[in-house]
Amino acid sequence: MAWTLTNNELSPKALVNLESLFALGNGYLGVRGNFEEGYQSDMLSIRGTYQNAFHDIISIPYGEKLFAFPETQQKLVNIMDAQTILIYFGEEEEPFSLFEGEVLSYQRHLHLDRGYSERIIHWRSPLGKEVKLHFRRLASFTCRELFAIDLQIEPVNFAGRIKVVSTVNGDVSNFADPNDPRVASGHAKRLHVEEVGCKSGYSFAVNGTYTSGLQTACVSRHAVSGSPAVNTQTIGDRVETVFEFHLSETVQMTKWNVYTDSLRHKEALVEKAIGIHETFSGLSFEGLLAEQKDYLDDFWAAADVKIDGDDSLQEGIRFNLYHLLQSAGRDEYSNISAKGLSGEGYEGHYFWDTEIYMFPVFLMTKPDMARQLLIYRYSTLDQARARAKEMGHKKGALFPWRTISGTECSSFFPSGTAQYHISADIAYSYVQYYLSTKDYDFMQNYGAELLFETARLWMDTGHYHDGKFKIANVTGPDEYTCVVNNNFYTNVMAKHNLKWAAKAYRLLAETDRNVLNELSARLQVTDEEASVWEKAAQLMFLPYDEKLNINPQDDTFLEKAVWDFENTPADHHPLLLHYHPLTLYRYQVCKQADAVLAHFLLEDEQDLETIRNSFDYYENITTHDSSLSSCIFSIMASKVRYEQKAYDYFIETARLDLDNTHGNTKDGLHMANMGGTWMSIVYGFAGLRLKETGLSLAPAIPSKWKGYAFRLKYQGVQLSIEINQEYLSLTLVEGDELTMKLYGEEITLQHNRILKSALINKAVV
Ligand code: BGC
Repeated sequence: MAWTLTNNELSPKALVNLESLFALGNGYLGVRGNFEEGYQSDMLSIRGTYQNAFHDIISIPYGEKLFAFPETQQKLVNIMDAQTILIYFGEEEEPFSLFEGEVLSYQRHLHLDRGYSERIIHWRSPLGKEVKLHFRRLASFTCRELFAIDLQIEPVNFAGRIKVVSTVNGDVSNFADPNDPRVASGHAKRLHVEEVGCKSGYSFAVNGTYTSGLQTACVSRHAVSGSPAVNTQTIGDRVETVFEFHLSETVQMTKWNVYTDSLRHKEALVEKAIGIHETFSGLSFEGLLAEQKDYLDDFWAAADVKIDGDDSLQEGIRFNLYHLLQSAGRDEYSNISAKGLSGEGYEGHYFWDTEIYMFPVFLMTKPDMARQLLIYRYSTLDQARARAKEMGHKKGALFPWRTISGTECSSFFPSGTAQYHISADIAYSYVQYYLSTKDYDFMQNYGAELLFETARLWMDTGHYHDGKFKIANVTGPDEYTCVVNNNFYTNVMAKHNLKWAAKAYRLLAETDRNVLNELSARLQVTDEEASVWEKAAQLMFLPYDEKLNINPQDDTFLEKAVWDFENTPADHHPLLLHYHPLTLYRYQVCKQADAVLAHFLLEDEQDLETIRNSFDYYENITTHDSSLSSCIFSIMASKVRYEQKAYDYFIETARLDLDNTHGNTKDGLHMANMGGTWMSIVYGFAGLRLKETGLSLAPAIPSKWKGYAFRLKYQGVQLSIEINQEYLSLTLVEGDELTMKLYGEEITLQHNRILKSALINKAVV
């Protein structure tokens, strides 16, 4: 089981959520799980196709615009629709619709191991014509521009004329909801049609954005069984190809859609798309499925997590990993949107979600993909430098809170730009990459520069006071507490950033003075500056409350009244949709893990008792209104050995979208949470940590499971970990030897020799 997501619901309310769950993608293209034939006109649908990073620029309207507020933002654009295929039966031309006539059987599947979705339908029309239809579709993992749909129509009691109308439609808009800050409030129409038509058997539409000057093309070709009459015509902004078949045996049609865009393919987009079509002109849909399967075999061999003893959680983790794979950008233009390529929530923007929640999954399973995510950030470093200047800093790089092309898109600075921690989060991911891969070349070519520039930001943002280095007026991850002094999370992450900038400097100095000289000449970085970073790191102020023995979230957090949770009506959650931000800022109430997250990322900065006390304290005042929260509480509950809580929080993450527990799955999947599910297992239950001292594990197992298993890539080797209720086994499946820590003790593994160890359910210190 659990390789297939199945949902046979046709209830109009469920469909828009299912569009996100059944979305297909390959890191470049994303197509929501819409029905080819559509629904009825009164049913909500977000019909969407996206190219990662393909965006328009829109102006941000302000009532009062102050200095350095961004004037424009980018917005992921819904591009030309090639999903539409309408089918009409008989001389009466009865349209096929699952909401008319009688659905005799209906199944819908998303095959996580084979990379396609399908609908299998047995249908009787209102006038009694009975047919079977089989729709299959995929976004190719091997040819990123390709989205293909295969259709088979089988007669049951009806033989006769059928008409199939397949469209490439340039008249598309984005979704907007003026009352939800998590989706766009307007600017729905972002594309205009530049050209639609047909040439050499290809239907195409070329659209352009209104402001960003980008172009996108969709070029479709149909391969059909038999020899139907074919007529292609352009009607307004769409091209329609009409096929007339005689249905007496199964009719088959494959629609091959290739998308290109001016960010990647520069110009002559239609010709380039036709060129791409030619590369697979001999391929059948079955052949394409075989390629898809090979790709996924490779992915799952590295990334699968097996859970023995709970099928619904097994489904949850595989589903989440699959969507991560579908969403991750694989070129320097793109990253992973908060909603992946499955919807339009947060307008396709990239946040810190990538580095802290999703990057670790790729780092430990598919390091090449992780590297690519870092390259994207590096490619925006100049914009981050410019933003730092604009924000009044003399030096350094300030990464945008939310962006596509690299400039700040956040209009509400208290929980946007003020989240300076994103720069330290990015730096943290660069360090994790180095620790996991020991890719020195990468450190030399990209990492050191990024660490230097982010460290400079902290030096210019912070100041010395009473012998301590302090950082004023920033916002930590918790967006219900904004613009504060000495946010614990920010300070501890900045400390790490500064420390590692100095370490990178020393590493380069020891290894390759020439490289350092080149960098120094370009960036004017000196030995003295590295010492300044070291000193600030050593003297970084980390708020600590002696009475409670916790790390307060910031300087004044504990002075505030605790939110009145008891008298908050249940329907007032998430609080952000019911209370003015200032109301929320006045209280001790957290939207999401903040200090608790810092305790996960940098656990050695405080002792276990402080970690446990802080967990208890913040748990009582955290609403988890952000989907980025429960996974962190699960990991930290594992750390402090609250087994039941670790499990309960894990359940919340594993099926968050499958069960639509946050109520907004229709806007796209919660990608950070999806990464968080993997982290709750691997960092939480299995206690993985990646530090300068190496890799360590301290596995425990939820009492409800019989076992679980996963693999990790680390410094060129691959480790397989299997855990059951009695013991764990470690096998080095790739590589000769690995020295690591198990429950704090050093062990050495040899290739293919299984090491078994009793399970010790004790806290990892
Ligand atoms: C969270 C942020 C997150 C953003 C995008 C917000 O609700 O508070 O931490 O980056 O969503 O996922």
